[in-house]
Amino acid sequence: MSDIFDEVNLTLENRRIDSEVRLQEHIAGINQKFPELGQLEKEIADLTQDQLLKSLNGESVADIPEKIEVLEEKRSELRKKYGLSEEDYRPVPFCAKCKDTGVVDVTEDGKTVQRPCSCICELLAPTLLASGGINKYPGMSFEKGNEAFYTNNPAGGKVYTAIKTLAEHLRIPDMVLFGTSGQGKTFAAVSAARYYAEHGMPSMVIRLSDAQELMMEYRKIVQAFYTAPDKEKRVTALRDLIVNAELLVLDDMGVEAKTPNSEADILYILDSRAQLGKKTIITTNYDIATLRERYGARVYERIKRSYKCYSLSPKKEG
Ligand SMILES: [Zn+2]
Repeated sequence: MSDIFDEVNLTLENRRIDSEVRLQEHIAGINQKFPELGQLEKEIADLTQDQLLKSLNGESVADIPEKIEVLEEKRSELRKKYGLSEEDYRPVPFCAKCKDTGVVDVTEDGKTVQRPCSCICELLAPTLLASGGINKYPGMSFEKGNEAFYTNNPAGGKVYTAIKTLAEHLRIPDMVLFGTSGQGKTFAAVSAARYYAEHGMPSMVIRLSDAQELMMEYRKIVQAFYTAPDKEKRVTALRDLIVNAELLVLDDMGVEAKTPNSEADILYILDSRAQLGKKTIITTNYDIATLRERYGARVYERIKRSYKCYSLSPKKEG
């Protein structure tokens, strides 16, 4: 995951360098067009260097600042005469919104928070969508979301709208979406994960059965004497994303095969994420009582304690 952020930082740095280079070219163009101005620039630069060298040698430079000031005044008169403004001497960033820093200040609830600028979201999104498995659900996004889908299911529609609003503020809490299949749980959860990825926040969608398999593979790699490097890299990256993604969707809890590690794996995922303050959406066709039976009291307690529970089924569940 850090690789793509390194790449983005490099892109930002190159953009800053580019705009500095463009500025120098622009100034060189001005100085060529108005040689008088170019001559002045040169004199000021020479004097500044002279001042630096002399003071390094311990010589007196008392008269130099005044000379520079006179030349600078002349320069600013000339600039005005030729219709040049301060804009001509300022770098023009690739992105005016963030000035190529990659972050913008956003006010939320009266507090200022930093968010990735849209220019780097554009750079990050393709990688985030692919690495987080969100590309596997091409039809699922808030843009494609059709609230009419929920007309016969007002309860589900309400939850969908709430998730959309929360996602748009990047404020999804830990939540479990209950409901029989076909009620749009996965749709709502994947759309939220997609929104996060498109806004520069690493997110991931994984079926719980696949997450379980991945945790098993990761254990094997840790214990193995040798694993092919590309496999080790792939599995480790996915396992890291399960823990570190800003938003993780654990889809379809309850249909996976039960293994001796099922409970421990889920506890590990939920606890590590809670410690890091990362948010998780769990979807399941089962009700909470069945989950308790299936995963044991500890998983149940975690969910009960810190997850908001929503049902998308048309009929209200207990
Ligand atoms: Zn920007």
